[in-house]
This record gives sequence, C-alpha cells and structure tokens, in this order.
Amino acid sequence: MDDLTQALTLAQEQALRYAQDLARLYQQEREKREQLALAHQKLSAILQSIASGLVVVDQAFRVTEVNPAFCALVEREEDELIGLPLTEAMPGIDPTLPDQIRQRDQSIQTHEIQLVHPQERTLIARVSRLEKPSHAGWVIVLHDVTQERRTANLKHEFVSIASHELRTPLTGIIGYAQLLADQIADRLDDDGRMLLDHVLEAADRLKGIVDELIAFTEVADLPFTSEPLDLRDLVQDALMAVTALAQRRSVTLDLTLPDEPAIMQGDWASLRKALIHILDNAITYNKPQGEVRVTLGQEEGIHLITVADTGIGIPQVELSRIFEPFYQVEEHNTRRYGGLGLGLAIARRAVELHGGRIWAESRLNEGSTFYIALPTLNGSATNGNDH
Ligand code: ADP
Repeated sequence: MDDLTQALTLAQEQALRYAQDLARLYQQEREKREQLALAHQKLSAILQSIASGLVVVDQAFRVTEVNPAFCALVEREEDELIGLPLTEAMPGIDPTLPDQIRQRDQSIQTHEIQLVHPQERTLIARVSRLEKPSHAGWVIVLHDVTQERRTANLKHEFVSIASHELRTPLTGIIGYAQLLADQIADRLDDDGRMLLDHVLEAADRLKGIVDELIAFTEVADLPFTSEPLDLRDLVQDALMAVTALAQRRSVTLDLTLPDEPAIMQGDWASLRKALIHILDNAITYNKPQGEVRVTLGQEEGIHLITVADTGIGIPQVELSRIFEPFYQVEEHNTRRYGGLGLGLAIARRAVELHGGRIWAESRLNEGSTFYIALPTLNGSATNGNDH
C-alpha cells in the first residue's frame, strides 16, 4: 500500500468514526428532545387540568402564562391576560402584593388574597420564585377557599348562638339541682341521692362543653391585655396545670427552660390556655408510660415552645387540618378521649393574635411535636419559615 492509499484509508476510518459519533450524538439529542417534549406535554396536561388557578409572572409582575382555571377565576381569555400587570389581571387584590412578595426573602411563600371582581373570592396563593436569571419571576398557584371560609363563618355563628342559648337554662338546671342537693338530700334514700349526683355530674360535664364552645367563639374578641411576661413562668405554670392529668395517665413530663428570661409582650391568660390545650393533648393522645418533653428556646427574633410527645401520632395528611374547629382525627376514635375538636383552634387563634405561629410534625405510632413560635420583644414570629 502506497502512502497515499494509507492516508486515504486512515481518513476514511476517521470519517467513519466521526460519522458514528455524530449519529450517536444525534440519537442522544433526539432522545433528550423527546424527553423534554414529553415532560412539556405532561406539565401542560397537568396545568390544563388542575382545578387551581395558576399564573406565572415576570420580574415586573406582568403575566406571562396562565392556565384555564385562572382564566375562569378572573373570567377573561388567555390573550387578554398575557402582558397585563398582575394587579390588573386580578382586580381588587392588594396593590402592595408584588412588593410584599419581593420583600419576603423566601423561595416559597403563602399569601391570602381577596379578589373583588368578577366575584368576591378568598384565595390562598402559594408563590414560588423562579431562580433562572433569564426567566426570573414567580409562579403563583391559587387555591379558592371562599366556600370553606363561608362554611367556617356559618359554623362559628351557629356555635355562638347555640352555646349562648344553652348557657342560661343550663345554669338554671345546675342551680336548682345544687339547691336540691343542699336542701333535701338528707330526705332522699340512697337511690335518690345517687340519681341527684348523676344529674349534677352530667350537668357539670355539659357546662364544660358549653364553656368550651363559648371560649371558642369568644377567642377572637377576648379581653386582650398586652403586658411584658416571662415565658419561662408561663410554661411552668401551664405544666403545673396538667400535672395531675399526667399522673393519672402515667405520662412523664420533662421540662427544659433557658437560664435567661424569655420576655415578650402579650396576654398571659390566653397564651397559658393555648399551651394547656397542647399539653393536654400531648398527654391524652400518649401511650401509657409515655413522655412529654417541653422546651423553651430562642432563635432569630422568636421564642419557640416545643411540646414533643411519644403518643399515637397524627396522619401527615391531617396535620394542617387538626387546627380547624371541630376537626378530630377519625382513626383516633376521639369519643373515647372526649373533647370537641376545638382546643387546637382556640390555641391557634390565641397564638396568631400575638403575631405568632403554631404548627405540628408527627410520625404515626411514634409521636407528635407541636411548635409555638412567638415574637420576642423586638422580633416577628411570622417571618422566617413558611409553615
Ligand atoms: P380535641 O378536643 O378533640 O382534643 P383538639 O382541637 O385539641 O381537639 O385536637 C384536634 C384533634 O387533633 C384531636 O381530636 C386529635 O385527633 C388530634 N391531636 C391533637 N393533638 C394530638 C397529639 N398530641 N397526638 C395525636 N393526636 C393529636
């Protein structure tokens, strides 16, 4: 083989290798494109079919994408909406919302939005930041809670009327039964006295229920004092209040307090009540020989009270719902434990009235941890983590 033929063969082999590489690259590229197209198709199917409204905005809060549920929510067509400022696309929303979103340094945030046109609606917006510099902006998913809020208000109104109407005759029953017990008990035989005791006991239980209902309806307009208090004293005091229950249930209480005072501005009575509800649950939904660990700490402008139990736990999907009024976890067979499902709703209201947050984490059959974050004298508990 002369030099020329050898060079030609070499060049041919090289060209073949290049061609093979190219074919492989092309194949890979095609697969990538197909995967991308599939992902895009899936995403678009999800966006088209989800019941939640979705709107994507750019850095200047102008609409770049919407889904059909969003169009239905604001009763406008997609092409009318693209390019509009968010505040025009959603008439009546707080004009400062874009600034609020920009200012909160969180990749995911939650806002409550009131839409005025075309209908009054209450929406919960989950806002996620798009990080890519070329596509900076936000994705906003809107969950319509108008109906839930209406039902909650009706429930609240009904409970308020019913509990107040029940209180007067019940006070009468207890008063007269007590009078009977005081004045004619010695004229009754054993059976009569036993029956009278039952009446008094049942009326007392009923009074407990009515009082809890009234406490729930009144928690929003509690006489709210705001004075400096040391949370260490409050936590200790609340723990004392549940010690007898813990002993009855053979549950151990463990407390860790900081050495430094934990000062905040607030209403002692309502915060104490909130903590007692949490402690009461931690003992009630515990296992025999179980434990409840209470700690008080401070971090970044908040006081954090943690109540961890070794109890039966709460299913993940119900964790946010347990703070709703009258919500009880079905599996817990709560009739066995008594209670109306109002304790956590009352606790949340009291904590939120102080600018604080309350949330829970749990593992079934292992235990639950409840967190109460309250602002320090100069801090704000509603900033920071988004729970
Ligand atoms: P209840 O009066 O029923 O205790 P709450 O509002 O205090 O009402 O609690 C709501 C529900 O949340 C309870 O019925 C129970 O199912 C669940 N729960 C609350 N705290 C705990 C806990 N520490 N462990 C397990 N489940 C809990």
